[in-house]
Amino acid sequence: LKSPEPRPGILDIAAYVPGREHAPGVAKVHKLSSNETPLGASPRAIEAFQQAAFNLERYPDGQAHALKDAIAAVHGLNPANILCGNGSDELLGLLCHTYLGPGDEGIVTEHGFLVYKIQITAAGGTPVTVKESHARVDVDAILAAVTERTKIVFIANPANPTGTYIPVDEVRRLHAGLPSGVVLVLDAAYAEYVRRNDYEAGVELVSGNRNVVMTRTFSKIYGLAGLRIGWMYAPRDIVEAVDRVRGPFNLNAPAIAAGAAAIRDQASVAAAVDHNLAWLARVSEALTAIGLRVTPSVTNFVLIHFPETGGRSAEEADAFLTGRGLILRAVGAYGFSNALRMTIGSEEANEGVIAALTEFMGRK
Ligand code: PMP
Repeated sequence: LKSPEPRPGILDIAAYVPGREHAPGVAKVHKLSSNETPLGASPRAIEAFQQAAFNLERYPDGQAHALKDAIAAVHGLNPANILCGNGSDELLGLLCHTYLGPGDEGIVTEHGFLVYKIQITAAGGTPVTVKESHARVDVDAILAAVTERTKIVFIANPANPTGTYIPVDEVRRLHAGLPSGVVLVLDAAYAEYVRRNDYEAGVELVSGNRNVVMTRTFSKIYGLAGLRIGWMYAPRDIVEAVDRVRGPFNLNAPAIAAGAAAIRDQASVAAAVDHNLAWLARVSEALTAIGLRVTPSVTNFVLIHFPETGGRSAEEADAFLTGRGLILRAVGAYGFSNALRMTIGSEEANEGVIAALTEFMGRK
């Protein structure tokens, strides 16, 4: 007997592999593999989550009004331009399923976030991968790849796993060069960490056009990755189209309540930004000083490149760090065979990685 055949393309998808959580034989670990915040969620979000537990027999509000309204109030947006998702991952998929089908193409960049390719393929479309330049999104390469079949373009700004960023003028140039029928998705999962407020200009791009979408998440700076909350800001026609494809109750009630409380607590966000800026600088400098190359990052993670020779490869470093309970992320699937991505963590975790890599590099 034969199993039913999945649609063409489905078995070509390389399944997403999440960051590791455990180090075999080590009781206490620091998980620095998924760009989670070391500061945890806002106490107000935790309280709202607990309160929501008293009404679990009821369906959530399918339109997540309380969350949209809180987001709109804090960011000065119209709630009608907001759509919430079960993590921004879900929204990336819904956008593909709304705008792509067999025969259509979606453009992604060389080191881009893997979910784009997965969802383009899952929707029946063909991912077209273009080169980056110095681990940064290359606007000219994207524009050169556009055909009459292109339906969607994904860039993350800042990008994961590189931590790099393209200024808003480049994003504007990208948009200006795209046909109006192509949806440009600006994935701003790490927007809060960028000191320059260019992403507010990304919001302007969404507001002033019919074909630009910005996606955001509560998983990173808000410390709510476990609840799965994302949102997108988009023109009305896009919101209304994607809303037809969305599952009716895609966000659960505790997530709606906690997300609304979290976004009102901007003091927690500011504290997380400060923690990150200080440690991003310290980690980047310390690792550079021991002979490692670190791609300059504007996010809450760094991409660390290891020497090609001398028994000090990324794979060996990964095993060495794991043995000490320090869990980083291998990024071979993103096209970096000799690098590891490290999330900026607590003081103890960051100093632990610096000390361990100093030893690994024979600098001690
Ligand atoms: N976009 C980028 C660039 C990311 O790094 C991530 C998290 N890995 C996401 C989107 C998805 O985040 P979430 O689904 O948790 O909102």
